[in-house]
Amino acid sequence: VQSTMQDVPLLISRILTHGSTIHGSSQVTTWTGEGTPRRRSYADVGARAAQLAHALREDLGVRDNDRVATLMWNNAEHVEAYFAIPSMGAVLHTLNLRLPAEQLIWIVHHAADRVVIADASLLPLLAPLLPHLKTVEHVVVSGPGDRSLLADASVRVHEYEELIAGKPTTYDWPELDERQAAAMCYTSGTTGDPKGVVYSHRSIYLHSMQVNMAQSMGLTDQDISLVVVPQFHVNAWGLPHATFMTGVNLLMPDRFLQPAPLAEMIESEKPTHAAAVPTIWQGLLGELTARPRDVSTLGQVTIGGSACPPSLMEAFDKLGMRVCHAWGMTETSPLGTISRPPAHVVGTEEEFAYRLTQGRFPAGVEARLTGPGGERLPWDGESAGELEVRGPWIAGAYYNGPDAEPLRPADKFSEDGWLKTGDVGTISPDGFLTLTDRAKDVIKSGGEWISSVDLENALMSHPDVAEAAVVAVPDDKWGERPLATVVLKAGATTDFAALRSFLAEERRIAKWQLPERWTIVEAVPKTSVGKFDKKVLRRQYAEGELE
Ligand code: ADP
Repeated sequence: VQSTMQDVPLLISRILTHGSTIHGSSQVTTWTGEGTPRRRSYADVGARAAQLAHALREDLGVRDNDRVATLMWNNAEHVEAYFAIPSMGAVLHTLNLRLPAEQLIWIVHHAADRVVIADASLLPLLAPLLPHLKTVEHVVVSGPGDRSLLADASVRVHEYEELIAGKPTTYDWPELDERQAAAMCYTSGTTGDPKGVVYSHRSIYLHSMQVNMAQSMGLTDQDISLVVVPQFHVNAWGLPHATFMTGVNLLMPDRFLQPAPLAEMIESEKPTHAAAVPTIWQGLLGELTARPRDVSTLGQVTIGGSACPPSLMEAFDKLGMRVCHAWGMTETSPLGTISRPPAHVVGTEEEFAYRLTQGRFPAGVEARLTGPGGERLPWDGESAGELEVRGPWIAGAYYNGPDAEPLRPADKFSEDGWLKTGDVGTISPDGFLTLTDRAKDVIKSGGEWISSVDLENALMSHPDVAEAAVVAVPDDKWGERPLATVVLKAGATTDFAALRSFLAEERRIAKWQLPERWTIVEAVPKTSVGKFDKKVLRRQYAEGELE
């Protein structure tokens, strides 16, 4: 029997139209570092997105399915590009501005980007790359910064504001196929070449609805969301799309991502929600400890991207900022789990333990655990295996060019089409995921596994430790052993022996798991999205730099 329902495609243009009309007075506020921030209503963002689409189509000749890249911070113009490009039928490609030059060149070439919209403050990064970006024909420059860097560029250079000025403020958005490409994002290529994930209109639409559910982020038009997670990091975790469905006000930090301006932003703009990886919040915590500010409005903080240390959650709780832990990856759009404790534990002692897990799978994400021999493991909270997921916003393959069959490497996709996440963990009978480690970070010591995350969390709960990263290093006797890399807080006096006994006595880490190799560093190296870069640590150790 055929359904009798309308078959209206789930398109990003519909999210834009909804946000810019029904929630037209909601605002995108962009921090400028000095003076008053720039404020733009959703109605204006919608009008300017239409103007940008006209300019891209009529002046730059952007066609359906062309890839239009952005090299931008989080700001109102980036939100305009987020909506204009997919809505007109082209593909938004967010470039990670922290990637090394060679990787950026590789990615732009692989995606065959024709246009790059860039913040002028990023031209020192873009200009030297341009001679190598053979597919790029146009650069559109936005915001403050020195344009002279493009004086000799062989591409056509346009000024964002001049380009859109005078263009119609409405656009007859095409009725696209909802399965068509809307946006793409490359994984940061910790091993091998980066891999391109292509999101569809449908996947983004459905993911946005999930982000908005009360048991996910559950924000409304009374909220202001401080989006610290970069717009190039898995679509800022879906926030710009989700907020245009509900009218949540956006607070965009632009390039002011250091702890001091973030604290200032929170105090003066009073966001009620914020999202970023743990390292950002560790930095903010240090700043708030040194110079206390009023951050009392910030009721909910979404933390994901790497495991949230319990000490961070506790410290934020004390400041009235309730952490909600979430797990995901580029391939999962990214919302894969989010930790809202079940009703029966709320207000009890068990609640904290639930909040520390990576969280529960939402409707729309199916999960299973696979053991080393490919066997299915039970959801008993104890059996640890590789997490595999499937669902309408989970990648089923990687991009391999516009006309080529997508790539389905056997280490990333099961024969029956599930995504193999490379994350190892357990699932409780009530569907809460606890990750013990990434498969590639776990320390294999004499046939037993040591979780690097457990050791890090235990170390970071020591009052003298600012950051700690633990990696596996080769060991003649055991195969691998943990190396603890520690950043001490200013003025700290503790030593390795004291930290070791703290782990054993206070944190009950089994003796055989305790690191015997220790090193103090100024800062733990970070990846392009702000996670501990364990690959760099392993290399530094191998090259004798961490003795
Ligand atoms: P990259 O691989 O470059 O870090 P992603 O952002 O896609 O890019 O990373 C996804 C990975 O990050 C996951 O596979 C997982 O290992 C890790 N991760 C994400 N969220 C969490 C979390 N809450 N706890 C632990 N690990 C996490």
